[in-house]
Amino acid sequence: MASGIPIGAEDRVFVLTGAGVSAESGIPTFRGAGGVWQGYRFEDVASPHAWRRDPALVWRFYSMRRRAAADKRPNPAHLALADLEKRLGERLFLCTQNVDELHELAGSLRAVHMHGQLFMSRCDSCERPPFEDRRSYDSLDEIPQCECGGRIRPHICWFGEMPFELEPIFAALEKATLFLAVGTSGVVEPAASFVAHATGRVRTCYVGPEKPANAAMFDEIFLGKAGELLPRLFSTASIAR
Ligand code: NAD
Ligand code: ZN
Repeated sequence: MASGIPIGAEDRVFVLTGAGVSAESGIPTFRGAGGVWQGYRFEDVASPHAWRRDPALVWRFYSMRRRAAADKRPNPAHLALADLEKRLGERLFLCTQNVDELHELAGSLRAVHMHGQLFMSRCDSCERPPFEDRRSYDSLDEIPQCECGGRIRPHICWFGEMPFELEPIFAALEKATLFLAVGTSGVVEPAASFVAHATGRVRTCYVGPEKPANAAMFDEIFLGKAGELLPRLFSTASIAR
């Protein structure tokens, strides 16, 4: 049985989650599906180029992902992180690469979605803020237009686009005294390099069933499923009050 990760009263914890944290909820990971999601290659449907070339195809892909995610429930890993937030408050910074809403459904109030959110859309032309949107758009004439004439697109950070919220993310990395990555393959930048900002300065841990590509950057690797390991790693006993 893995021993816990002790958290002191002054510790500030930065948690980075990836697709692996939602795997036990039935949402396929990027790699697990061999880079192909139900017949689509991510690169073909998740880029500004794809959006310009064939917006209906892009929306068919994201509509399918919305339908697939709609009935998924948080697993014990999401619940353990929500519980950790309750205990640490602002001393926990939860940064997720996931676009699903399972952290929120588990009770996390402040998850930062650096790659956007599946159930939000925004205009592709103007500054109108992103809005909640659970609809499916399966053909070109279903795609809504903004008042400005722009098209409504998924609020997702596509290949080649700048992730969201990098300023608060790097500020939190600076302050962190413990860095934990969960279920992320350590390939997609810039998230894969977050651990490098912490290495040598703070304790860095990884949780997942296999070593990530950036394994050398971690002090400790806990091999196993997030849903099984996280509730034990953060047992009440390991947190100083
Ligand atoms: P990834 O698919 O590249 O890697 C997933 C990692 O999760 C792997 O290292 C795998 O070993 C690990 N894993 C598998 N089962 C696990 C479990 N039960 N517990 C813990 N870890 C487990 O995912 P990534 O590193 O997040 O990067 C892929 C990109 O694709 C991200 O940008 C993400 O936005 C996107 N994506 C998101 C979702 C989602 O929102 N749920 C799903 C697929 C892809
Ligand atoms: Zn607009």
